[in-house]
Amino acid sequence: MTHEKTPGKLSRVKATPSIENPRIPKRPPHRMGFVTIMGRPNVGKSTLQNALLDQKLAITSPKPQTTRQQLLGVLTHKGYQIVFWDTPGYMHRTRDALDRRMLSHVQESMLAADLALLVVEPKPPGNIEKNLLKILSQENTLTILVINKVDTINKLSLLPLMESYIELYPDMEVVPISAIQNDGTDLLIQLMVKHLPQRDAEYGEDEITDRSERYLASEFVREQLFRAFGKEIPYDTAVEVEQFQEANGADRLKDYIQVVVYVNKPSQRRILIGKGGIAMKSVSTAARLQMEEVFGRPIFLEVWVQVWNEWRNDPAFLEDVGY
Ligand code: GDP
Ligand code: MG
Repeated sequence: MTHEKTPGKLSRVKATPSIENPRIPKRPPHRMGFVTIMGRPNVGKSTLQNALLDQKLAITSPKPQTTRQQLLGVLTHKGYQIVFWDTPGYMHRTRDALDRRMLSHVQESMLAADLALLVVEPKPPGNIEKNLLKILSQENTLTILVINKVDTINKLSLLPLMESYIELYPDMEVVPISAIQNDGTDLLIQLMVKHLPQRDAEYGEDEITDRSERYLASEFVREQLFRAFGKEIPYDTAVEVEQFQEANGADRLKDYIQVVVYVNKPSQRRILIGKGGIAMKSVSTAARLQMEEVFGRPIFLEVWVQVWNEWRNDPAFLEDVGY
């Protein structure tokens, strides 16, 4: 933002002294940039983003491909501002409109970012890592390889593992971390900041994400579906917030959120609801508690389940729910 100077005496009086005091150390320049977090499903990208932001924004679950849309998180500090994109898991095959949209989100964020974090598990590189590193090195993208989940391995096996990745892109930095234990994340932040361009902050101090509460609300429900139901069910569901009415202090003392969960088949609807509505009750209670924690106010949440098997192939719907 530019501030226009008002002409006249005032601006002349306010001129700053031009001699610097040599005893006051010069502050390092402010750095700001966009960081995309990529890697195959389930390596811990969302967990890492949450650890870095110290906030629960991206949803995490033990099953792959919980993240469908990239989520913007902003980390603001006195000397730097890092904007994170949490991408959906990278795929090399595309099946339907949903898969294609997810893939294009990944490619877009790769081109637009100042820095890429490639998150991997402590295992030798597979085809996905080889492909991604090939593209990143061809594009000369500044890259930090993050070997996550090092809490699960013997530290001695780390060195040969790091070498097997560096071979694929000798210019990148490698940082071993445990996102879940918050181990190595400070070092990772320092390293990112070092590589970001000198730029002013673009977001306000309290802007943590550009995602609306509406979007977060639907993601919290989806996370609980992933946690509660096995097999294919969570992948066959879409979540849409139908109503989001803020409390008005009169007849509505809590925010009212109505969510519709779409499933493909009537049998899935029965499973989701459960005997006497027990299954859905526990999903919606857990989701509501998360909303209340993140939004910081009481919520009245209602969840409906509807059968609609064409949602994956309806581009207008996918656009609406933001996948
Ligand atoms: P994403 O699909 O890459 O976003 O992965 P998630 O962040 O959803 O994590 C997938 C699973 O890995 C979850 O069960 C996490 O709890 C687990 N996980 C993430 N980070 C770590 C870690 O540092 N150590 C261990 N042991 N598990 C982790
Ligand atoms: Mg994720």
